Amino acid sequence: MLVLGIETSCDETGVALYDTELGLVADALYSQVAMHAEYGGVVPELASRDHTRRLLPLIQQVLDEAGVTRTELDAITYTAGPGLVGALMVGASTAHGMARALGIPVLGVHHMEGHLLAPMLEPTPPAFPFVALLVSGGHTQLVEVQGLGCYRLLGESVDDAAGEAFDKAAKMLGLDYPGGPRVAKLAEEGDPGRFRFPRPMTDRPGLDFSFSGLKTHTLTTLRKLEQEGGLDDQARADVARAFEEAVVDTLVIKCRRALDDTGLKRLVVAGGVSANVRLRERLERETDKRSAQAFYPRGRFCTDNGAMIAYVGAQRLLAGEHDEIGIMKATPRWPMETLAAPR
Ligand code: ATP
Ligand code: MG
Ligand code: FE
Repeated sequence: MLVLGIETSCDETGVALYDTELGLVADALYSQVAMHAEYGGVVPELASRDHTRRLLPLIQQVLDEAGVTRTELDAITYTAGPGLVGALMVGASTAHGMARALGIPVLGVHHMEGHLLAPMLEPTPPAFPFVALLVSGGHTQLVEVQGLGCYRLLGESVDDAAGEAFDKAAKMLGLDYPGGPRVAKLAEEGDPGRFRFPRPMTDRPGLDFSFSGLKTHTLTTLRKLEQEGGLDDQARADVARAFEEAVVDTLVIKCRRALDDTGLKRLVVAGGVSANVRLRERLERETDKRSAQAFYPRGRFCTDNGAMIAYVGAQRLLAGEHDEIGIMKATPRWPMETLAAPR
């Protein structure tokens, strides 16, 4: 079965072709990052308009790359939520329109289930069950995964997501959006011994996170440095380093706890922040220590992409799921725990 996947939940137009026998056939991405950078964050109306401009040419590009025509598609799948409603509707209406014209099934899928299962596209995918750390721009969650659609939420952020915290810290440091990779780069020049930032909610049991205090701590530290006349490039790098260390350490502590609590030996880390090198290094060491194994998506599938949507959609289509004809789904808020295994 040849499945076309469409991702338009935020500021990335992603398209991919997944063959249930051959695997990933082609994928392409158009990022709106440069357009939104001017505003310091995603402007929803601009995002939807740009998806409208980019999506059809991107679909054609992927089909051309794969050397197939539309009529060879067996099904279409798209991100139905969570995300920006206008952006979601571009993907949903395009998918439904194409599916209707071609007379093939169409299915709206959950964006975070896409992130969660993105490591399945790698040469050595994780087997079920596993613990998953989802760390993206809008989510920070620990989930126990027993199989497709069998998700138990172990803990989540009570305020900001980890990626969001990176983005906000970046802004304070005078770095462009999206801040995660830029903070990480600046942190490389930083002295890890100069500042120690708090590890929120690690001194009590439980698997929830909180990152908003860390943001305040960053701001206070920068203000103090400024008042003292010591806010130079090195100080900025030292703050970036302390911030990154604190976020990474907090994530690692909770992952360790989740592995212990569940007794599971496999850890999946996905979402934009899973691209963070320091996080990966730390998790490698931790999993090695307890003869567990960590799994990640390849770099470009950590952030939003069409491949993860094509993959998840294909799995659910194989199990017989599809949307009702003419009823497209665009669900801005949609907790992942409400998902079920295909019947
Ligand atoms: P969600 O998936 O929750 O709806 P999103 O789609 O915006 O949110 P992703 O595209 O998965 O999120 O990830 C983007 C986030 O990842 C941004 O917050 C970005 O700063 C962060 N990020 C990307 N690379 C890195 C990195 N190397 N280190 C830290 N953070 C990173
Ligand atoms: Mg994005
Ligand atoms: Fe995402």
